[in-house]
Amino acid sequence: MKITVIGYGIQGRAQALNLRDSGHNVIIGNIDDAYKEEALTDKFDVFSVENAVESADVVFVLIPDGVQDTVLKESIWPNIADNACVVFAHGYWLAFECNSLPDGLDVLMIAPRYPGEQIRKAFKNDSGVPAFVDVAQNKTGNAEQILDELTLGLGFSKGGAIPLGFKQEAEIDLMIEQFMAPLFFASVESVYKALVEKGYPEEAVCMELYFSGELGAVRTMMGRDGLYTAFQNNASPTCQYGVASSRHRVWSKELDAVLQKQLERIVSGEFSKELSSKQDSCQDVVSSFVNSDIASRIKQTEESLKKQIVKPNFFK
Ligand code: NDP
Repeated sequence: MKITVIGYGIQGRAQALNLRDSGHNVIIGNIDDAYKEEALTDKFDVFSVENAVESADVVFVLIPDGVQDTVLKESIWPNIADNACVVFAHGYWLAFECNSLPDGLDVLMIAPRYPGEQIRKAFKNDSGVPAFVDVAQNKTGNAEQILDELTLGLGFSKGGAIPLGFKQEAEIDLMIEQFMAPLFFASVESVYKALVEKGYPEEAVCMELYFSGELGAVRTMMGRDGLYTAFQNNASPTCQYGVASSRHRVWSKELDAVLQKQLERIVSGEFSKELSSKQDSCQDVVSSFVNSDIASRIKQTEESLKKQIVKPNFFK
């Protein structure tokens, strides 16, 4: 299969390398910049997006979700061959921005559950990461077969290719990003502030909150062994009782209502509309989040901690 990968970033590089190592003929579509240089260093032929899609049987759209609509309409749809197959790594564009799909194309979602580094590492170790997969449009009648060939080539069939509709994939993913992740950041910031204000040393608080890496190690074990099994196998009896007896104290009906509101905001399309309308100011919102007063204090504490501790080897 002649495969074009548009974008050579986090997903693009790993997926292009895996597909080429699996024997596919892969070229890259990218503008003239550092990503292009990396693709050239990896010995890929690199073309403009327009030229790269012209001769492809399969086009992977591995650029940020927020720019996909423009690139698809301006550069991919006008140049793609009839009967080609388009692959997305996330259901976002299909779920929230797609008004209609060009006729004649097969359209797939192959959405890995890991960043590129782990996708490549797993492939090189003769294993693979799991992915949610969906056939969004099957115009040639061959889409299922192409899906199987691609998940095999990417290594995802070894990790587990799990069927899931693109809309549900996108909504679950956004829910993790817009409820679980902000809750984590808000907890870290609030606990940090509260303890430091009461006189606890900043370094000790930061270390215990996440910086030692213990939290990440426990989450990894939960992914490996199961949520409750890892908890019971690794947490001290004091910790286990503390968690079990506090679970219902820290959660509230109000938080449940927030959860429902966040889900509604995603499912109704309100979030995606806001994201599209704020393309020019998104980075400002992120910037004020990561440069707030509390973020700056935490970053200073991290710098001071880095001088005092050496991370265990398994973090490298
Ligand atoms: P990246 O931010 O790493 O993508 C960077 C690439 O996109 C570069 O090649 C960049 O080239 C290109 N790009 C950026 N803007 C444009 C533009 N306007 N026109 C053309 N090319 C552009 O993205 P990811 O790899 O993280 O994401 C790709 C897809 O994979 C998304 O759909 C994402 O949701 C999905 N995904 C990502 C995961 C992850 O862990 N990161 C996990 C699972 C799915 P240049 O700047 O030179 O234009």
